[in-house]
Amino acid sequence: LNRRLAEFGTTIFAEMSALAVRTGSINLGQGFPDTDGPEEIREAAVRALRDGHGNQYPPGPGIPELRTAIADHQQRFRGLAFDPDTEVLVTAGATEAIAAAMLALLEPGDEVIAFEPYYDSYAACIAMAGGVRVPLTLRAPDFRPDLDALRDAVTPRTRLLLLNSPHNPTGMVLTREELSAIAALAVEHDLLVVTDEVYEHLVFEGEHIPLASLPGMRDRTVSISSAGKTFSYTGWKVGWVTAAAPLVAAVRTAKQFLTYVSAGPFQYAIAEALRLPDSYFDSLRTDLRRKRDLLGDGLRAAGFEVHQPQGTYFITTDITPFGEKDAYAFCRALPERCGVVAIPNSVFHDDPDAGRSQVRFTFCKRDDVLHDAVGRLRRLT
Ligand code: PMP
Ligand code: GLN
Repeated sequence: LNRRLAEFGTTIFAEMSALAVRTGSINLGQGFPDTDGPEEIREAAVRALRDGHGNQYPPGPGIPELRTAIADHQQRFRGLAFDPDTEVLVTAGATEAIAAAMLALLEPGDEVIAFEPYYDSYAACIAMAGGVRVPLTLRAPDFRPDLDALRDAVTPRTRLLLLNSPHNPTGMVLTREELSAIAALAVEHDLLVVTDEVYEHLVFEGEHIPLASLPGMRDRTVSISSAGKTFSYTGWKVGWVTAAAPLVAAVRTAKQFLTYVSAGPFQYAIAEALRLPDSYFDSLRTDLRRKRDLLGDGLRAAGFEVHQPQGTYFITTDITPFGEKDAYAFCRALPERCGVVAIPNSVFHDDPDAGRSQVRFTFCKRDDVLHDAVGRLRRLT
C-alpha cells in the first residue's frame, strides 16, 4: 500500500456489517434499507435486462434517457437548469462521483476544506488525488458549522470546499444563511465547491437548499447525488454529477478511467424512478421521519443522549450517560452485550477527541426491526 493510502484500512461499514453477520446482530450500522424500493422500478430494471437495454457498454456519460431525467429532476425539485448533454454525468454511485471529482480537480498539495465528521471516502479520495484535507469540526449538540473557523481556514493553497448536506453522520442540514456565507466565501476566494447531496430528499425539518442555486455558485459547484438513498436501491450504484460543462468534462475525464461506464440496465430503471410522482418522494420522507422518531424515542428510553437529526437516515447519540466514552470500544462490544451493531462517529474525525463518545444508528429499517433493536438496547442500563 502506498503512503497516500497507508492510513486507510478496511472501511468501518464493511467491518461493522461483517460483525453483524458474524454475531447475528441487528445491523443499525451501515446505512442501507432492509426493504427494497418501488416494485415498478425493479420491474423496469428486469425489463431493461430482458429487452437488452444496456447489456452492452452504455454511453460513457450515461444513457441519454437518464441524463435527461436527472436534468428534469434538478429543474422540478431545485429550479436548476442543466443541459443533459454537457452538464450531467452518470457515475457508479455517489462514491465514484466523489473520487472522480477529487482526481479531476485537485493538484498535488491543494487543500480541501471539509467538515468533520465526514463520510469516510472523502479523506481517502482527497488522499488518492494527492490533496491535503483541512478538517473543521462540527460539534454536538447541534453540529452547526463554525463559519468564522471556515473563513480562517482558507489559505492561498485552498482549492475547494467539500460539503455534505444533509450531513452524514450527524443529520445536520445547512440553512440558507449558512449556505450563503459559504457561497460568499467561495466567490471571494474563487474556490470550487463539491457538494454531496445524496440525502437531498430526506429532510425532516427545514428544506434542502442546493448550493448551486445561490448567487455566484452555478458555475463553481459540482453537485453530487445518488439513486441509492432516494429510491432504496443502494446496490445498484447509480449516482450522478450536475455542474457547468467544463467541470463535468473534467470529472468525466477521470470517470472514463475509473469505470469507463456505469452499469447499463439500472440506468433505464432510475430514469423512470426520477419521474415518480411527488407522492413517492413525500411518503419516503414521511415514513422515514416516523422511523426517526421511533428510534430516537427508543434510544432516549434506553439511556442514550440523542442529537436529533434534521435529515438523512442516521441518528448520532452520545454514550456518556452510560459512563462510557470510547465509541469504538462501545460499538465493538455492543453485539455481545445486546445484539445490535452501530457505527462509532470517532472514525469520521481527524481530531481524536472529537466524536469520541458519539455513536451513529440508522433508522432505514422495518418498524419491527427498530422495535426489536430498541428492546435489546434497553438491556444496556
Ligand atoms: N455520500 C454520503 C454522504 C453517503 O452517506 C453515501 C452512502 N452511500 C455516499 C456518498 C455514497 O453513495 P453511493 O452508494 O451512491 O455510492
Ligand atoms: N452511506 C452508508 C453509510 O454511511 C453506507 C456507505 C458504505 O457502505 N460505504 O452508512
